Amino acid sequence: MTNPVPQLRLNSGATIPQLGFGVFLVSPEETQRVVEDALEVGYRHIDTATGYNNETEVGAAIRASGIPREEIFLTTKLRNDHHKAGEAAGAFDRSLRMLGVDYVDLYLIHWPMPANDRYVETWRTFGTFAADGRARSIGVSNFLVPHLERLLAETGTIPAVNQVELHPIFQQRELRRFQMEHGIRTEAWGPLGQGKYDLFGLPAIQDAAKAHDVQPAQVVLRWHLQTGTIVIPKSTSRERMTQNLDVFGFELDADEMAAIDALDENRRVGGDPNEVN
Ligand code: NAD
Repeated sequence: MTNPVPQLRLNSGATIPQLGFGVFLVSPEETQRVVEDALEVGYRHIDTATGYNNETEVGAAIRASGIPREEIFLTTKLRNDHHKAGEAAGAFDRSLRMLGVDYVDLYLIHWPMPANDRYVETWRTFGTFAADGRARSIGVSNFLVPHLERLLAETGTIPAVNQVELHPIFQQRELRRFQMEHGIRTEAWGPLGQGKYDLFGLPAIQDAAKAHDVQPAQVVLRWHLQTGTIVIPKSTSRERMTQNLDVFGFELDADEMAAIDALDENRRVGGDPNEVN
């Protein structure tokens, strides 16, 4: 069967599978099994971070799967205490070693940490990872519009991706519009609201689930995909990871999309990027 997940073009020229698999809060003991399951059920895009403490196990799962490295899109992220040019270079070397790969598909600055004021310097160092091919694409995470504006103005290098909190309760319209205008892809973390809201019980989501005979989580993922967002839902259950990938057999109509658009409360579940330092 051909893989149904759309491939989106990044400003680096590379492509990214629009639906991937995240491993935040998956323990090192569980990660290899979970990622092997994810690859077996069909995911070809894995999102980890040095801060998740499971890069070694993600790399082990990729090797154990027998799937050629080039068929898997692999993302990791610079930990917050490694901002600064010299430290970022060493941290990137260590990530590649832990993962056991000679390149990643996407390397992200995990948080801007504006009070430290080093993200521009770190971003310049990221440019060297792209230039030597060890990061096929480079991007950022949790950047607000003013942080992106500074990168653009002071370095001229445009991030391929900004990975941010995004779900029906926190839709990030202004940021998405800015990113669209600048060729930056929007990637949603916490796409299911991290299970912290009763998202799945909201009538707009319940009604669409009933109409299409699917689960509420599948409706939420479908909404993301139809807005053009990259999603990386997490689940350690094989049944749910299969369900989360099975979202290409139905389409939400304009009314269903509008009903979910109307759920925005501009409310985060995670930290405010201006305050995470
Ligand atoms: P998520 O929105 O993917 O929610 C995960 C939770 O949703 C699971 O614990 C599970 O309880 C539930 N769930 C998953 N599938 C379900 C289903 N089909 N039905 C019912 N419940 C289901 O939250 P997340 O894991 O925080 O975000 C996804 C990924 O984003 C992470 O694993 C990580 O890779 C990334 N992330 C990045 C940042 C960042 O700062 N860049 C922060 C958080 C997460």
